[in-house]
This record gives sequence, structure tokens and C-alpha cells, in this order.
Amino acid sequence: MSRRSTLTLAIVLAAAALHPVAVAAAAPTAAGPAFCAPQRTPASFRSCIAAAAAAYTALWAPELAARGRSATPPTISIFTRVPLNPCFDATAGDFAVASFWCDKSVTVYVSAPASPYWTREYAREARRQGVLASDARRLHRSQARLLRGLPNQGAATELAHELGHWVQYASGIDAYYYAKGQGPSRMADRYRSAFELSADCMAGWVQGRAAATGRWRDSPFISWAGLATMAELGGDLDRMKPGFRFPKETQIVAHGGAATRLTMYRNGLALGRRGADGINGCAGAAARFTGTLAPPA
Ligand SMILES: [Zn+2]
Repeated sequence: MSRRSTLTLAIVLAAAALHPVAVAAAAPTAAGPAFCAPQRTPASFRSCIAAAAAAYTALWAPELAARGRSATPPTISIFTRVPLNPCFDATAGDFAVASFWCDKSVTVYVSAPASPYWTREYAREARRQGVLASDARRLHRSQARLLRGLPNQGAATELAHELGHWVQYASGIDAYYYAKGQGPSRMADRYRSAFELSADCMAGWVQGRAAATGRWRDSPFISWAGLATMAELGGDLDRMKPGFRFPKETQIVAHGGAATRLTMYRNGLALGRRGADGINGCAGAAARFTGTLAPPA
């Protein structure tokens, strides 16, 4: 997609540092719900990611413990240039400019240069299609404010998806998806989509749970940033309607488009807000959506 390639190039050109920065897991503060600062600076971005990682992994811990699994949190590593890692060739092409999960190093690599993109690019596209005014009215914010986005919260949402992959790994259900997703068949494609879509649902689950339990600030603007990020991660934003509505896809390809990813994310939000099982709930939702069988509970 040309828009994505342009972004990729811009990010590669903007990348400066050579080595990823490890983020220490910060303990949640006793001063009320955590949140990501609305203004993105290098420091506020790092503390946002640390706070989100601490909140999200803490919420997943009992879900994993209930399955008899250890919940040792993954390493969170922020990068400005795709780092050397055991999962992907960091020098090959341009694909890993977004954040990514690597099971071999049990690490979520968080892209600093991609982080401003999600919410801002969504807002630009929404303005282009005449939808931003309705978002602004609903949030009691100006369109100019929405165009500046909530980059840190967008990055936290992308992190929540990648931590979904960590949960799949830590719970052991990733092996099921890998086995079912082997080979070039329509059904294998569906299992690969189910793997990704359950991670989208888990992103929603953990953010819904964090809001409902008072671990994370709960506001319409923060919710907007989550939805905007999921829409933008889905790619093709043509024909959007107010309220984050997109035409339903006739066929889900890979991660799915905006409509699919938002559906799964919203599924997860609802499950998390009411305290439902995040692992089986999301695996089941992804299975129903893709017409596959859920991994064994
Ligand atoms: Zn993914």
C-alpha cells in the first residue's frame, strides 16, 4: 500500500539511534489511574510504554496463573531503528518499522518512530473524508486538537496488541496457531488471521480491564485513541463513517482491515470491562470470526 510505504520510508529516514533501549518495568503508582502524557516527548513516550507494560502484564498475570502458567513479563525494548533480533532480519526490506513481538527473545520491540503515526494519521484521513468533525463534537475537542493525536496512547495500544502475542506464547496457545497455520491453504490462512485477531481482541481486553479496574485513566479521548490506532493498523481507511464504522470486509486477509480489527478490539473491550476470561474469550471470538476452531482451553 503506497501510503504505508511512504510512512515506512519516512520512518527509516527519521531513524537515528543504533541500539534499542531497554525499558525497566515501572510499578504502578498509588496516585490513581495511570495514563500516558498527551504531549509526546522522548521521556513521556518511555514512561508511557513502561506504565502501559506494567499495567497490562499485571492484568494478564492472574489470567495466566489460572491456566497454571508463569507470567514472567517479557522484555520491552524501544527502538528507533529496527534492532538486531532473533526473529526477523533487521536489514531486510522495511517491514518491521512497526512494533513487533519476538518469541525467541521473549521481547516486545516497540517502535518509537511509528508511535506518532497511528492517531494522527487516522485524524488526517478522518478529516479528508469529512468524519473528523463528528469525532470532535463527540469528544468536545477541536479538530485541530484531534489532528495532533494522542501519540503515546496510540503506542500503548499497539503495545497492547503485541503483548497479546506474549499472552499467546505464555499461555501456550501460540503453538496451536502455528501448527494450524502451516502451509498454503485457505484454512491455514484463516488460522493465521485468527492468531492476529485474537491479539487484537486481547489488546481490547487488557485496555477495557485496565479502565474498569481503575488501573488506567478512562476517558472518551483515550478510547478514541485506541480505536483510531486499531483502525490505522488495519490499513485501508476508505469509506469510513462516523463512530469508527467501516464497510465490512468480504474476505479477511492476514491481520484483517479496519472493520475486522475494530470488531475484534471492541469484542475485547467488552470482555475486559465485564471481567470475562481474556484468553479463552478472545481465542473464541477470533475463532468464531474466522470460522476456525479455538485452541483447547
Ligand atoms: Zn500481531
